[in-house]
Amino acid sequence: MTYHDWFTQHAKKHHAIVSRLEHLSDEEVIAYFRYDNMVEHELDFCPLYAKGTRCHEMEDLNCYLCACPHFRFDDDGIGVEEGAVVKSTCAIDAPGGSRSVHVEVIHHNCSGCTIPHTDRYIRGRFDRDWGKIMSECEAN
Ligand code: SF4
Repeated sequence: MTYHDWFTQHAKKHHAIVSRLEHLSDEEVIAYFRYDNMVEHELDFCPLYAKGTRCHEMEDLNCYLCACPHFRFDDDGIGVEEGAVVKSTCAIDAPGGSRSVHVEVIHHNCSGCTIPHTDRYIRGRFDRDWGKIMSECEAN
């Protein structure tokens, strides 16, 4: 699956859930997206839920900003480095991030970074429109 396809599909799933939560306050919506609640009530939101696993072992993992507003991608390539096509990167060079190289393609690896998954971070960027928060992720 391309980054673009994943983003498009994920935006629809996110929108469908948020649309059902219109009666909740912003704070309650943020709480709804905590992993422990999502895994129980929104099994289709993430393939990891059915496996009973999660992307980050952290307290109070929140899935509202999965992926991450700082993630940058271009399926056609952001650039070329040492002969490899860079397809994704981190706009803030977060210290927990790293790079994965697969057959002349470089992807950004966020598995060591938990920045977008805390309630506090989400509150600071909150919008019920996930696409608006992620508007800078895909290169035009
Ligand atoms: S934050 Fe992790 S567990 Fe939650 S939806 Fe995203 S990948 Fe799945």
